[in-house]
Amino acid sequence: MRRSLVGFLACPVCLGDLELAAAVRATNICVAEKKQDKADLQFPDPEVVDGILVCRSCARWYPVRDSIPELYPDHLRDRVRDLELLKCLAPAVGSEFAESLRSKNADLPDVPDPHVCSEGESMLRTNERTAGKARDKTAAPDPGASFKLSEMAIASRIDDPDFFGPGRTAPFNPAEPEYTTRSIRRFGVALTLLDLQPGAVVLDIGTGYAWTSEWLSRSGFVPIGLDICRSYLDIGLRRMGAASPHLVAADVENLPLKTGCLDAVLAFDAFHHVPDRPAAMRGFFRALKTPGRIVLAEPGPGHGTEPASVDVMEKYGILEKGMSRRDVASYCRGIPGASVREHHIFKLAFGSLPDAARTVSDLILAAASLVPARLRRALLPEKTLARLKKSLRYSDYRFFVVEKRG
Ligand SMILES: [Zn+2]
Repeated sequence: MRRSLVGFLACPVCLGDLELAAAVRATNICVAEKKQDKADLQFPDPEVVDGILVCRSCARWYPVRDSIPELYPDHLRDRVRDLELLKCLAPAVGSEFAESLRSKNADLPDVPDPHVCSEGESMLRTNERTAGKARDKTAAPDPGASFKLSEMAIASRIDDPDFFGPGRTAPFNPAEPEYTTRSIRRFGVALTLLDLQPGAVVLDIGTGYAWTSEWLSRSGFVPIGLDICRSYLDIGLRRMGAASPHLVAADVENLPLKTGCLDAVLAFDAFHHVPDRPAAMRGFFRALKTPGRIVLAEPGPGHGTEPASVDVMEKYGILEKGMSRRDVASYCRGIPGASVREHHIFKLAFGSLPDAARTVSDLILAAASLVPARLRRALLPEKTLARLKKSLRYSDYRFFVVEKRG
């Protein structure tokens, strides 16, 4: 984590400012941060490998471990791991301060380590118990806790060649060229819809192995890649090394970002895994500047019933639930100034069409991409459109653009 990331972070529980109380830097200096004015001149944005972030409002503390801050709400924290890190950093923060942090941590709910959950059914049962515990012990109930803990426990499944394997090289999949084409094309469309200025700060939720954050960074923007599963982020970090953009392990429903610090939010194949979408959407709107924009590149409403999705949900306990424009509008209900529009992409097997049909379909596609969804519905009756989509091998992926206006 580069220290400049702290300027964007907030406590996931009370939204108070976070202060870097201690840090082990890439230069192997273990220091109390406030004493480092001299070093700052030499390293204006130093890499923090391990550290402690303390909330100025509620005094909760959060670990920065192996270059990634872990900013989970109480019921998703791993208390044992956190205390181990605090022990290592006690010499830097002072034993009295470390003890005060330790006792604060002792008040947190006792959640089992998601990294050592056993496989399959027993894991799901553990998560169900944990979810129950979370509901009992926190002020805000979290019915989605079992899905979240399943995502966090994904470390032991990450080598599954069928599901997680291709993600490691994303957006490229040498074994399936169509996957590569589709991923790059969808990213290109999402980037166009984001309509960012150079240097724009973009929250990239569910960034996973973080190729989307990497490409946003290479495109001249300042992405903050966020994922609930830190195992994914570790793989991304190993791939990108020192060129890595900001990465944060956190729960998007408890967004640990300062109010009004973002220009845009991107969810690329990610929002359909989020259990409480209105809560996540409220967090985006809070963290966005005005005007601001959210782009969701997600599968449509039929996604959850596709055999592959059902299989993944049963196997890994992850939520797979696509969405329609109406769904997205419902996630924004009660948020003043929110507007939603929908864009589609079409997939064509050009080789299967004669030249004339190809030209006509090109024109239809170009026209369809320019016409707003409401007007398109008025010009083309639903049934005709459905037939047309089918004949053009319509892809179920879609883009929702949610605007925050003043
Ligand atoms: Zn706090």
